[in-house]
Amino acid sequence: MAEIILKNITKEYENGFQAVKNVNLEIGDNEFVILVGPSGCGKSTTLRMIAGLEDISDGDLLIDGERMNDVAPQNRNIAMVFQNYALYPHMSVYQNIAYSLKIQKVPKAEIDKRVHEVAKSLGLEELLDRRPGQLSGGQKQRVAMGRAIIRHPKVFLMDEPLSNLDAKLRGQMRVEIADLYQRLNTTFIYVTHDQTEAMTLGTRIVVMRDGEIQQIDSPANLFNFPCNKFVAGFIGTPAMNFFDVTCEEENGEVILRTNGGKIRMNAEKTQKLKAGGWIGKKLLAGIRPEHVVVADSPEKTVFSGKVSVYELLGSNAIVYSDTDAGRIIMNTSQLEEHTHDSDIRLGVMEERIHIFDPETERTVTN
Ligand code: ATP
Repeated sequence: MAEIILKNITKEYENGFQAVKNVNLEIGDNEFVILVGPSGCGKSTTLRMIAGLEDISDGDLLIDGERMNDVAPQNRNIAMVFQNYALYPHMSVYQNIAYSLKIQKVPKAEIDKRVHEVAKSLGLEELLDRRPGQLSGGQKQRVAMGRAIIRHPKVFLMDEPLSNLDAKLRGQMRVEIADLYQRLNTTFIYVTHDQTEAMTLGTRIVVMRDGEIQQIDSPANLFNFPCNKFVAGFIGTPAMNFFDVTCEEENGEVILRTNGGKIRMNAEKTQKLKAGGWIGKKLLAGIRPEHVVVADSPEKTVFSGKVSVYELLGSNAIVYSDTDAGRIIMNTSQLEEHTHDSDIRLGVMEERIHIFDPETERTVTN
């Protein structure tokens, strides 16, 4: 259990490149915090600075109130699990899990007890005599976690721990990690570029881009109230649809006009758009595919076009249409088939519209 504070943390590599820029983050005891973002955004560098594997160029790292910048990795009471497992190939599963305790000269009987406890909790009891080369990817990952758990660390750091696994195993291991978190009562910091992992595992998610934090929020808030276009487009699959609109006042109502229709604003958005001086101006609008619907009347039509691709996924279908507002994706549970090149008229759930300043790309109605 630990509280971790990053104060104005910056990482500048020797070539002058700033991989992490002035990051501020407070992670409470027993939180499961996810660092997520596209490749190269600085999430691994941030994690490695917390672990002590990378020097901090500027700022302070505090663990339980103690400044850790210059403390050696092994003295930070942190355990890290990597994408490539980093197991010792010549050692058995037992020896791999026991290794850190052996180094600490923990008595043999105590080591044996703890290895068996950990192996039991991870379903590894039958595999203790095997070498890593005789294990599947998921089993290796479990051994890597066992090796981390046995030390009873204050903080668990995980860097893309599931990215070498196939889709099905990833799903299974995701649930196992969630389960582990519930049992261990420890602070977790987890790096991934997979937003499904981020949304399902995290109690809080930190979205990064180009070394900077974009938004720190709960999964639900990130989904419903993204602070800018980048976060809106990054969280959610398929990604949010974006399209140009003009904000107008029509018969006392505030609307967003698209090429093919209009979207009525509720009282709250009306007030915010008026207060922001947006009437008569161009804006960028966004709607998630699950909030696009087939329009059942001309008045409700926002986009008109033709179906390009229809993907039936079982309980839902994804329909890609080329419309007067560009490509619009709908994720629907109405399973009527839309054939290629058929005409389609789409509407939106008006309450679920997101609106961005086209210059700054910041949300204007949160
Ligand atoms: P990925 O998902 O691809 O692992 P990431 O978000 O974890 O990406 P980092 O590994 O933190 O990204 O790297 C952040 C940036 O720092 C990248 O642009 C990377 O090229 C750069 N970088 C990493 N190591 C060095 C180094 N030793 N010298 C200079 N630049 C580096």
